This record gives sequence, structure tokens and C-alpha cells, in this order.
Amino acid sequence: MATDYYGVLGLAQGATDKEIKSAYRRKARDLHPDVNPDPAAKEEFQKVSRAYEALTDPDKRRIVDLGGDPFETGGGGGGNPFGGAGFGGLGDIMDAFFGGGTATRGPRSRTRAGGDALIRVDLDLAETVFGTTTEITVDTAVLCTLCTGAGTAPGTHPAQCTTCNGRGEVQSVQRSFLGQVVASRPCPTCGGTGQVIPQPCSQCAGDGRVRARRTIPVKIPAGVEDGMRIRLSGHGEVGPGGGPAGDLYVEVHERPHDVFTRDGEDLHCRVTLPMTAAALGTTLTLRTLDGDEPLDIKAGTQSGSVLTLRAHGAPRLRATGRGNLMVHVDVQTPTRLDAEQEELLRKLAAVRGEDHPEASRAQHNGLFGRVRDAFNGR
Ligand SMILES: [Zn+2]
Ligand SMILES: [Zn+2]
Repeated sequence: MATDYYGVLGLAQGATDKEIKSAYRRKARDLHPDVNPDPAAKEEFQKVSRAYEALTDPDKRRIVDLGGDPFETGGGGGGNPFGGAGFGGLGDIMDAFFGGGTATRGPRSRTRAGGDALIRVDLDLAETVFGTTTEITVDTAVLCTLCTGAGTAPGTHPAQCTTCNGRGEVQSVQRSFLGQVVASRPCPTCGGTGQVIPQPCSQCAGDGRVRARRTIPVKIPAGVEDGMRIRLSGHGEVGPGGGPAGDLYVEVHERPHDVFTRDGEDLHCRVTLPMTAAALGTTLTLRTLDGDEPLDIKAGTQSGSVLTLRAHGAPRLRATGRGNLMVHVDVQTPTRLDAEQEELLRKLAAVRGEDHPEASRAQHNGLFGRVRDAFNGR
């Protein structure tokens, strides 16, 4: 009884080439000996590969569809899952793994997908935090309007390539460790397309595309960070022969802000307080990205303390809510005192018993205290 090659790939008779290819790719990814060391998987992989070859070769598939087995009548196939002579399965396997375009069998299309493009956009902090719409100018390959991608001069048509007679590939016999093999490579005259353009379009010289400058609006989502890329699908380069355009990536660069620095969703800033305000407490007005906000400074605030304004940072990109604004406090020691101020401070020091301060251990219980203790051998 003939093997049910459709069934091996989990398909029904009449499956399209695309279905066969994707079914094979799915199975091969699980079963390929490089990824699955199980001997049973290896055997299954050989079955699947053979089914793939039987269904992608038009001659073999005809035999399958007539109820026969292309590998039994051909002879010589033996245990070789690729059917022996020609070794044609290898290209198809590469093709199945890497998504097509590499197989040399038959002429390939002159039309190919276009490349991706990358452009950088400089934004202010308020723009990355709150989002914006900005316009960018890109210099890229667009469809030639004169030939609409065909590459031919108006009223003319492509002609069959005479080097390969339209097959798109040329063959040569090579010696290798497998013996003599027939190697196929893309035709150098037509680049594997099987066609030449005798009279190229004057505007694009036959490429089907021209370079042009375009201005397109880009929506910047709130919360983007420096270095992130926004993908604009289909805004990249148009492919040769008018092929589908690649994607355009817009890379965000955040300009430094003179007040706030950013750490992911949090913003940081620094305020400097006079010693008296830090001691007595006060309320400051802080200019945040959201506008003026009152900032309560408690009496006795120390230099280096951090106050948190909740939800005044950047929005979280893939979640709800916002980060915080962290306000780092520097307390400034007064300098250049006049006589009256100096007198007041001396009085204060005397009242507080601070007129003859000593470096007590209690005040130095941090890192410096420990360093000093180490020096003193304690
Ligand atoms: Zn050719
Ligand atoms: Zn053109």
C-alpha cells in the first residue's frame, strides 16, 4: 500500500503548496535531529521530509495523487530521505527553515520584499513622558510612478533570458565527496529571474523603485524611553521590482532636561534648601512636568533626604499608572555671614550647647565613623 504522504504532514489531498510548506516547517522544527535527539524523532523526521519532497516536486506529487509512491517506482531511493540523486531536498529544507527565497529551483520573482529602515528622532522629556505626534522626514526607496514597479519602459515588456532560457538557473557538474553532483546556481545574466528587461524604465533604470523624500507623522506613545524603537509597518524601503515595503523603525532619543533626570518610569530632581528652611520646615512650589505642585518640607529635614511625589513620573508603557517624582534635598550651609547673622548663629549655638562641638561617635556612626574607628584600632 502506498504511503499516505498527505497524512504524514497532517494534511488532506489538494493541500496548497503554502499549507504543505508550513505543515512541514512546523513538524521539522520539533523533529529535526539538531533539536530533538530522540531516535524515534529522527525516523519521524525522515518520514516527514520524504512526504515534503513527494508533495513539493510536481512530478512526484502527480504520482502520489494517482495513488502511487514516487519513491518505490523510481528505485535507488533506499533509506535516503532525500530521494537519492540530485540531492534536491536540501535546498527545500533550508527553504522551509529560513522562510523561502533561497531555493534555486525554477526562476524566482524579480519582485522582492524591501528592506527595513531606521531613523532617529530627538524628543524632549515632556514629549516622551506624555507622548506626542511628530513628523519625520525619511529618504527611502519608493515605487517608481512611471512603470509602477515593472521596471520596463512604457509599452515594452520583459523578455526571456537567453543565458538560462527562462529557467533562472544554470547548472554545472561538480565533483564532490558524494561523487559527481549537478549543482544549480542562479543565472548570472538575469539574477535568477529568467527574465531580462531590454528597454528599462527611464526613471528607475529597471529597478522598479526610486529614491524619494517623504514626511510622515509618527505617534509617540506616552512613556517611551530613550533608545526604544517604534515600528511603522510598511513604511520602509519598497523592494526591487516594486516588492512590498519593509518596515520603518523610529528610534527615540530623549534630550537631557535641565531639571529632571529619568530612570525608567521615575523622574529625579534636586532642590537646595537654606539651612533655616530645612530646620524650620516650609512649603515650596515645585515646577513639575504636570505644572506647579506644593512640596511640603518638614521641620528638621536632613540634607540627602528624598521626598516622593507619587504618580508624577512617566506613564508605564505596558501597564497603567505612572512612576514617581523623587525630590532629593540638599541643605545649604550659609556662607559669608555679616556681623549680625554671625552673632545670631553664635547665640543659637550657645543656646543649643553647640558652641564647642566634638566629633562624637553618635554623630559618626556611618561609614566615616567606622573608618575612623578602624584607624584608631578600635
Ligand atoms: Zn538567465
Ligand atoms: Zn520605473
